[in-house]
Amino acid sequence: MKHRLLIVSAFLICLFLVAACATSPTGRNQLQLFSSGELARMGQVSYRKMAQEIPEEKNQAVNRYVNCVVDAVTASLPGSAGRTEWKVTVFDKDDEVNAFALPGGYIGIYTGLLKVAENQDQLAAVVGHEIAHVTAKHPNARLSTQYTTQAGLQLINAFIGGQAGGGSKEIMALLGVGSQVGILLPFSRSQESEADILGLDYMARAGFDPRESIDLWQNMARSGGGKPPEFLSTHPSEHSRIQTLQNRMPEAMELYRQSRQQNRIPQCRRPAGL
Ligand SMILES: [Zn+2]
Repeated sequence: MKHRLLIVSAFLICLFLVAACATSPTGRNQLQLFSSGELARMGQVSYRKMAQEIPEEKNQAVNRYVNCVVDAVTASLPGSAGRTEWKVTVFDKDDEVNAFALPGGYIGIYTGLLKVAENQDQLAAVVGHEIAHVTAKHPNARLSTQYTTQAGLQLINAFIGGQAGGGSKEIMALLGVGSQVGILLPFSRSQESEADILGLDYMARAGFDPRESIDLWQNMARSGGGKPPEFLSTHPSEHSRIQTLQNRMPEAMELYRQSRQQNRIPQCRRPAGL
């Protein structure tokens, strides 16, 4: 009921405040109440909190590998996303099969994911998916629907100011690092599909083989594990996700072919023994 009320109120606000609405890359209407500067600040605060709490991976070969894949994907992003400088951290946590991207250009990859993503193309699939949530402004949409009240806005301002209040974990969860701070708040099904479609394009533009994305999600489903990763949220089901990817594959393969032709052929060496 609460959820429905939020959707209705988001719709009404969209109706009366046309400026607060924006169209997502695949043409959905989204409520966007916050500026990109505010989002970047929230991303930065969240990123710092995580970097304080989780140890960084020190192995240079592992860092080189992850940076090689992320750099290749981010260097080929279209539009304004391509102008963002993305900061990458590899977190040393083998039991966390996870990754995230935050507004403001922050990417976190857990060592647990590197075991499940069997090659550079599969890692690129995750990176593309996570970046797509940010470029499609899903964090802004989620915060906007949740925080249309005065109290909510005060909470966000406190967070932006670096004062960790009671609601800071929820804000981080809405930004996209929910399972990692202990609040499972999955992206919606339409947001997930959008991230899958855009993510597939992003990896293909960088010269990674988009077909590997399907193997990746299958590996993910098999890996199970304790905490469900962001992309293994309850929806969409593995089946419908693979269907979405397969439907988009012809376009992605064309982008992939063009990238190879333009000599975008990433060669990121996955360290032995991961
Ligand atoms: Zn996702």
